Amino acid sequence: MLSTMQDVPLLVTRILRHGMTIHGKSQVTTWTGEAEPHRRSFAEIGARATRLAGALRDELGVQQDDRVATLMWNNAEHVEAYFAIPSMGAVLHTLNLRLPPEQLVFIVNHAADRVVLVNGTLLPLLAPLLPHLPTIEHVVVTGIGDRSVLDGANVRVHEYEELLEGRSDSYDWPELDERQAAAMCYTSGTTGEPKGVVYSHRSLYLHSMQVNMAESMGLTDKDTTLVVVPQFHVNAWGLPHATFMTGINMLMPDRFLQPAPLAEMIERERPSHAAAVPTIWQGLLAEVTANPRDLTSMKQVTIGGAACPPSLMEAYDKLGVRVCHAWGMTETSPLGTMAHPPAGLSAEEEWPYRITQGRFPAGVEARLVGPGGDLLPWDGSSAGELEVRGNWIASAYYGGASGEPFTPEDKFSADGWLKTGDVGVISPDGYLTLTDRAKDVIKSGGEWISSVELENALMAHPEVAEAAVVAVPDEKWGERPLATVVLKEGATVDYTGLREFLSHSIAKWQLPERWTIIAAVPKTSVGKFDKKVIRQQYADGALDVTKLA
Ligand code: ADP
Repeated sequence: MLSTMQDVPLLVTRILRHGMTIHGKSQVTTWTGEAEPHRRSFAEIGARATRLAGALRDELGVQQDDRVATLMWNNAEHVEAYFAIPSMGAVLHTLNLRLPPEQLVFIVNHAADRVVLVNGTLLPLLAPLLPHLPTIEHVVVTGIGDRSVLDGANVRVHEYEELLEGRSDSYDWPELDERQAAAMCYTSGTTGEPKGVVYSHRSLYLHSMQVNMAESMGLTDKDTTLVVVPQFHVNAWGLPHATFMTGINMLMPDRFLQPAPLAEMIERERPSHAAAVPTIWQGLLAEVTANPRDLTSMKQVTIGGAACPPSLMEAYDKLGVRVCHAWGMTETSPLGTMAHPPAGLSAEEEWPYRITQGRFPAGVEARLVGPGGDLLPWDGSSAGELEVRGNWIASAYYGGASGEPFTPEDKFSADGWLKTGDVGVISPDGYLTLTDRAKDVIKSGGEWISSVELENALMAHPEVAEAAVVAVPDEKWGERPLATVVLKEGATVDYTGLREFLSHSIAKWQLPERWTIIAAVPKTSVGKFDKKVIRQQYADGALDVTKLA
């Protein structure tokens, strides 16, 4: 028997209409580096998104399914693009401005983007690439920046504000199929070639509802979220869509992502929430330790994208800022887990839960698969690869203009689950603890050593700023850990001292014998530790390694 309920498509258009009317007064504040930030209401953003859609259709000839790329910082115009492009039936393709040029070229050509919206300040990055981007017909420029770098380029150049000027505030938004493509994002390629994930209207809609649930970020129109996570990094973790659903104000840093302006923004604008990868929070912590600022407005901070060292969480606790650890991937939209502890616990009892990756919402099913392909119990000790499925989890990668979507065997199981490549355990009450990425785990004499556990233990040392541990070949054991350590200024500890410190929390056989001090841990385009680079440096003999007896 079928239900008697309506079946209204879940569309980004609906989120736009709702946000610009019901929450019309909520604001997007964009940092400008000048005396005052720029402020624009959701009503204005909605009206301008409507005009942008009109311009893209009438002036640039954008049609359904056309890919419209953005090469932009987090700002009000980028939010307008987020709503205009999917709502008109085209596909928003956010470009990661930190990728090496050859990867950007690969991605734009693979997606066959026709149009690119770009911040003027990023034109020096885009202009030299244009000769290698044959599918790009139009470049739309917004904000400050020298346009002359585009002279001679084989594209039509438009001014964003001129396109919007005098345009109608209404648009006959199409009735789309909710399963249609709305946006796409390429994995940042920490492991292998970037692969395209295509989000549907339905997946974005459902994901936004989850972001807004109290068990996830749970914000309201009384809150302001500081969106540090870039809009090109998995849709800024769904925040722009989620905020339009519930009227959460957004504070956008634009290109001011350095610790000092971030600290100033927080003190002046007093956001109640913020979201970013651990590296950003490490940098901010060093900044406010040197130049104290009031961060106490931040009642909740979401840290994810890489393992958050417990020592970092503790440091923010002391500043009156509550961190919630989260796990996700480009393929999971990204919200997978968040580490809110169960009810009824003391602060001390909450701690072991807070340092896990968190628990799964109802919309994300999880299972652990052992090395032999067997399903493992949730007993808190059986470690296996995490597989997930749900309505905002990818079922394939984009195949490119001519190809079919593809499902590599190492990424999708035969029965349709996403293989995350993350290794961990799940407790009987459903909390996930990741011990490593499958590719980073150190296989020493038939046993596994968690690189993340060693890193967290090292970063708990008061004189250690950052530490990354990678597997290196070892004649006797197959692989052994190499500890690469960034010391704080004035540090006096030596390798023996560090190893002694580790021995308090780490089993003796897991302690690294190979050590090196480095100036900074290499980072990926989204600010994660780039262990590929460290492994390569080691192989090339570029690191000055000391081997302890
Ligand atoms: P890429 O795979 O290219 O780095 P993603 O941004 O999609 O791009 O990264 C997803 C991966 O990041 C996850 O599979 C996981 O390994 C890692 N990750 C994300 N959040 C966490 C976390 N809280 N703890 C540990 N690892 C995390």
